[in-house]
Amino acid sequence: MKQVRLITNSAEQTRQLAEKLAAFLSAGSLITLSGQLGAGKTTFTQGLARGLGVERRVTSPTFTILKIYQGRLPLYHIDAYRLEGLDQDLGFEEYISGEGVCVIEWSNFIADILPAECINIEFSINDDDSRTLLISGFGEENERIVEQLCIQ
Ligand code: ADP
Ligand code: MG
Repeated sequence: MKQVRLITNSAEQTRQLAEKLAAFLSAGSLITLSGQLGAGKTTFTQGLARGLGVERRVTSPTFTILKIYQGRLPLYHIDAYRLEGLDQDLGFEEYISGEGVCVIEWSNFIADILPAECINIEFSINDDDSRTLLISGFGEENERIVEQLCIQ
C-alpha cells in the first residue's frame, strides 16, 4: 500500500488534483471516496470527469445511484449513500471492473462488495475549511499512480 496525505485550499484545487489523477487512470480503475457530507467527494469527481474529457456537468447522483458520463474513457459515478446495509448483489461488476473508470462516493457503505485493488481517498474538513485528502493506493498499479501524483 502506498499512501499520501495532501491538503487542498479550495474546491478548484481539489478538482485540479483529481484532474491530475485522471491522466493516470485506465479501463477498470476504481476510485473509492469516503468522508462526511460536504467534504468534497462530488467536487473531486468533477475534476476526474474534466480530466477524462467529460463535457457534461457532474452533479451528485444521490437519487440515481449511478450516472454514466462519456469521455476519453466512460466514467461510472456511483453514490452508495442509500445502499448502506443492502445485502444483495447490486450488479455493479460491469462498472467496477468495466471498460471505464469507476468512482464511488460513500464507498464505505458497500465495502464488502468492492475489490481490494483501488485508490481510496478519505476526505476530512479542517478548521480553516481546507480539506485533507488521505490517498491510498492498493495493488501495484495503484501504488505507482499514487507515487506519480506526488511528483510535480
Ligand atoms: P460531498 O460530495 O463530499 O458531499 P461536495 O463536493 O458536494 O461534497 O461539496 C463540497 C463543498 O465544499 C462544495 O460546496 C465546495 O465548493 C466546498 N469546498 C470548499 N473547500 C473545498 C475543498 N478544498 N475541496 C473541495 N470542496 C471544497
Ligand atoms: Mg457527493
